[in-house]
Amino acid sequence: MEQRILQIALDTPLDRIFDYRWRAGAVADEAEPQVGQLAIVPFGRREVAGMIVGLADQTDVPLDKLKDVIAVRSQLSPLSAQWRALCSFAADYYQRPLGEVALPGLPKNLRTLTTTALDRALKKLGKLTANHDGSPVNTPQLKPEQQEAVDAIATAQGFAPLLLYGVTGSGKTEVYLQAAARILAQSEAVGEVAQILVLVPEINLTPQLESNIRARFPGVHVVTLHSGLAEGERTLNWLAAHQGQARIVLGTRLAILSSLPHLKLIVIDEEHDPSYKQQEGLRYSARDLAVWRAHQLGIPVVLGSATPSLETWQHTQAGRYRKLQLRERAVRDAVLPTVKMIDMERDRPNDGLTSTLVAALKLRLERGEQSLLFLNRRGYAPVLNCDACGWISNCMRCTSFMVLHKPERRLRCHHCSLELYIPKACPTCGNVDLQPLGRGTQRVEEGLQAMFPEARVLRIDADSTRLKGAAQNAFDSVHRGDVDILIGTQMVAKGHDFKRLTLVGVMNPDTALFSHDYRASERLFAQLMQVAGRAGRAGQKEGGSPSEVLIQSRYPHHPLYGAVAAHDYDGFATQLLEERQQAALPPFIYQALLRAEAAEIDIALAFLKDAATCLEHTGITINDPIPMTMTRVANVERAQLLIECASRPALQAFLRDWLDVLRQMKTRAKWSLEVDPVDI
Ligand code: ADP
Ligand code: ZN
Ligand code: ZN
Repeated sequence: MEQRILQIALDTPLDRIFDYRWRAGAVADEAEPQVGQLAIVPFGRREVAGMIVGLADQTDVPLDKLKDVIAVRSQLSPLSAQWRALCSFAADYYQRPLGEVALPGLPKNLRTLTTTALDRALKKLGKLTANHDGSPVNTPQLKPEQQEAVDAIATAQGFAPLLLYGVTGSGKTEVYLQAAARILAQSEAVGEVAQILVLVPEINLTPQLESNIRARFPGVHVVTLHSGLAEGERTLNWLAAHQGQARIVLGTRLAILSSLPHLKLIVIDEEHDPSYKQQEGLRYSARDLAVWRAHQLGIPVVLGSATPSLETWQHTQAGRYRKLQLRERAVRDAVLPTVKMIDMERDRPNDGLTSTLVAALKLRLERGEQSLLFLNRRGYAPVLNCDACGWISNCMRCTSFMVLHKPERRLRCHHCSLELYIPKACPTCGNVDLQPLGRGTQRVEEGLQAMFPEARVLRIDADSTRLKGAAQNAFDSVHRGDVDILIGTQMVAKGHDFKRLTLVGVMNPDTALFSHDYRASERLFAQLMQVAGRAGRAGQKEGGSPSEVLIQSRYPHHPLYGAVAAHDYDGFATQLLEERQQAALPPFIYQALLRAEAAEIDIALAFLKDAATCLEHTGITINDPIPMTMTRVANVERAQLLIECASRPALQAFLRDWLDVLRQMKTRAKWSLEVDPVDI
């Protein structure tokens, strides 16, 4: 009887490939297995799906230990060599086993479905024709700079990393759409299939993009890939991409690992957005993988932003990426909002609002225009406090406070999700007069309602949009004009194009100015530019009034605010890059972070101390192990060790050897390694 040894990658932390035996006739499917196919195999006491990465005639596994493959998913075409190379690259770069990279990204159904269920799903897919017929909506005539950008993308030969740099409203999305249309048409003209991947930070916050794409490409199969999809739909969409039927895939960071055999263009919208970085498990950067993938395939990759990441900006300055700039807002007469600082030392706030901001809100109410108040802190107040004895609402499981949530009548920890009823009296001294300290969105909402009883005030944050569809409903009511004053967290800063909005008030951005996190100012700048971009999108001839952004601050003369007011990303980025270079920080140096956690901090620190000295090295800086700023989360204590090196290959080589040693070390700490960390 014919037999083969299948080398299979499995989703386990063990960094190795597993051998299994396949015998013709022993499993239902007789076709010879191929590399790239999925196989169901016994592993421990479970049956799991793995990916075939090699075929052999022999194995070192003793015959009595060698197990048989249960089934090969031969009805599914094998994952391509290019896709496997992408996974291998990510596995090597992020120092994880191949199986942990390749398998978790596949829809769960593919890994668990029975053969017949899979045949079902595939049949259903066959029946799906290009949906949404109908005539294409009008496409606007491109402005010269947009045209130049579209031409550059559509005529790029081979690998072409392109920064599409332009303020909110400058017509970047229009460039993506028309470049995509050109590339689809070019391929069709020569009888080829093209697929286009469009990545966005969060799909739920950019519903307009999805509907725009669908309207613009009637007759083209468009699918979405993100974690909010139900398993069945995710499977179908993934299969449509894998089989080449889906021509446009719109997805979040996880979509970068999808199988796209005819990929011809990658677009990353808001490329600077922190949500492109996966923060648990395989901690990859979807943006970096996208650039690698474009390089591998020899295709263009478009990175769009009004405030590019310093990494991307640095590549552009060095000439490695090409800059395509859109200098003006696309809609006729729509001008950038004026940005003004309000000095909170002079104009003392009442209920968190300065008199200048209150007057501006009043003016908008009188004119029937909308206002947006931006405060990146949800809840009613960040702390509850007893004046009599000094008690404060610490979380008993974390190094953090329990946040007061008034409408929900709870104290909530935003880090471990612990919930308690609001105490009626101080737990230490019995004082019944407990005071909220500070201000979150709920408290601002309450204050606004008292101040403007006739105004329609709406709060949008993670709490108000917990239920499915709630965020969509809330945004819809803003677009319909049913809201006068919108108050929200960073959820409202993204993507939305509010036509009636002429005032943006920023309530308390100062904390980020003095953060120990060196990336905080880069993020604050991007956030302020983004929230400012919500205003003034309508053209004045269409009835829009000039709009303004008011920023309340105790440090109104801080250079960061000066740059925001001047809409001067270039100057700001140049300055920051100089500082980073002088301080030897990324992107001028490469970093990795070893994290350890344990019941007690000493265990974590002891492990990191051993780790720091267990291997000889040159050219690598290993810093001292330190407890993390928020040391305790959910009763686990955490510490970290930062490794730095001026050369990426040298760092990679060190990490590989180092991990071999670390894996042999005995410790009660749980540890993980992150390459290119962003939160340190
Ligand atoms: P961005 O993605 O840079 O924020 P968009 O592509 O969403 O900008 O464009 C902003 C607005 O301008 C949208 O309403 C869009 O339809 C419109 N627009 C874009 N390009 C043009 C153009 N060439 N002519 C007229 N309107 C345009
Ligand atoms: Zn007390
Ligand atoms: Zn907690």
